Amino acid sequence: MSDDVLSLIPIDQEFVPSSAAREKAAALLQEMLPDGEMCEAKVYDQLHFIDQGENCEAVLCPSCGRRFEIDYFTENDRGLTWWLEMSEAIAKDGSIKDVQTTTMPCCGAGLPFTSLEFDWPAGFAHFALSIWNSNVADGLLTVAQLGMLEEVLGCKLKQIRAHY
Ligand SMILES: [Zn+2]
Repeated sequence: MSDDVLSLIPIDQEFVPSSAAREKAAALLQEMLPDGEMCEAKVYDQLHFIDQGENCEAVLCPSCGRRFEIDYFTENDRGLTWWLEMSEAIAKDGSIKDVQTTTMPCCGAGLPFTSLEFDWPAGFAHFALSIWNSNVADGLLTVAQLGMLEEVLGCKLKQIRAHY
């Protein structure tokens, strides 16, 4: 058994929508994706890493501009070693309060972990709206659906697909 999770998070890492907006958005998302399970809107006190599960293929370094692949099949691959260390530093519940800066394997720059971009996308948030196993073709909402949720929540959203 594997699971696919779609999470929607504000582009602004600090933004938390009102509880009324969160409730309305969760109901709307469930209506858009009727097959989906465990649809919920969560608020986190600490900034959380909203991960992409097994879908992390590469990391984009904002310092040198390189995209380094995470090669899961090569032992001692530099990207993989870095990624495993990061994964361990992130709390089991996704909180990243213990992860401040990281040394990039590509260029050695010390960067805030929250400044990194991932492929597939992942992100950092105090709020996430998630739904499990929605069975939509490519796992993502359409632009129109996303726009409706952005209007309800009052913020621009980013879609994150995780596979476990
Ligand atoms: Zn770099």
